[in-house]
Amino acid sequence: MEAEIRALKARKNAVVMAHNYQPLEIQALADVVGDSLELAVKAKETGADLIVVCGVQFMAETAKILNPERKVVIPVLDAGCPLADFLTPDMIREARERHPDAAVVIYANSTAESKALADIVCTSANAVKVVASLPNETILFGPDSNLAAYVQRELPYKTIIPLPPGGHCYVHTGFTLADVEAARRKGGMIVCHPECHPEIQEQSDMIASTGGMVRGAAGEGEPWAVFTEREMASRLRVLYPGRVFYEKPDAICGDMKKISLADLRRALEREEHEVILSRDVMDRARLTIERMLAVGA
Ligand code: SF4
Repeated sequence: MEAEIRALKARKNAVVMAHNYQPLEIQALADVVGDSLELAVKAKETGADLIVVCGVQFMAETAKILNPERKVVIPVLDAGCPLADFLTPDMIREARERHPDAAVVIYANSTAESKALADIVCTSANAVKVVASLPNETILFGPDSNLAAYVQRELPYKTIIPLPPGGHCYVHTGFTLADVEAARRKGGMIVCHPECHPEIQEQSDMIASTGGMVRGAAGEGEPWAVFTEREMASRLRVLYPGRVFYEKPDAICGDMKKISLADLRRALEREEHEVILSRDVMDRARLTIERMLAVGA
């Protein structure tokens, strides 16, 4: 299977991009593995004819938005993101009417339509930097309310309004104070993703995006309890074999686990399922992503 996938990649001049939460056997066959910002940047740089995104829908959409002339496919069509589904275009339009002076900052974990209605996109790696770069005092921030709370804490001189108020990722909000206590008993550091509840963020030793975790774990160090999707700890163990990383066994994103090697092979062979977006949505969303890329990580 692996040999067939490698041969198909070469024959089709295809590039496979995998998110850090993908199963390790998928990551092993990917040309790029990273967080959504890294995938977005690499998607823009690739010279491939076919881009296969092993992740969830919004990541495939972002790759398509940045590569409108290339064919972008996602191996499993219903690999979605429940967090992205919290935010609808109507919510953004209504919030804009209520807060005409506010800037709209939309997290990458959102639909292409939501990005198209934003002023600027951000990821968990650069959310603080993106919001700090804006002149507006009031920021409508969606769809993750915990990331919004993190940005608010980092930038107290701004007024961050979460959009919608309770938007969250069920995987990250599954971390509790009991998990903090269990990790403290084991010793080492707690490193949490900013999509975790604010009280978990406050109890953690470091808050980082998955890309930030990869960079932060380089070199020697004490054990880490990794408070994000459990595959992240597997990835860190592959990258840094001498170090100890603990995962929470049931911190699993079901959508991220939908793509199998057989699905990847089929996607390369049949070039399916192609991401189709309207030209108008792509053009407007690209502008908001490029504004983010100009701000940087
Ligand atoms: S881990 Fe959470 S935010 Fe990430 S894709 Fe899964 S549901 Fe969406």
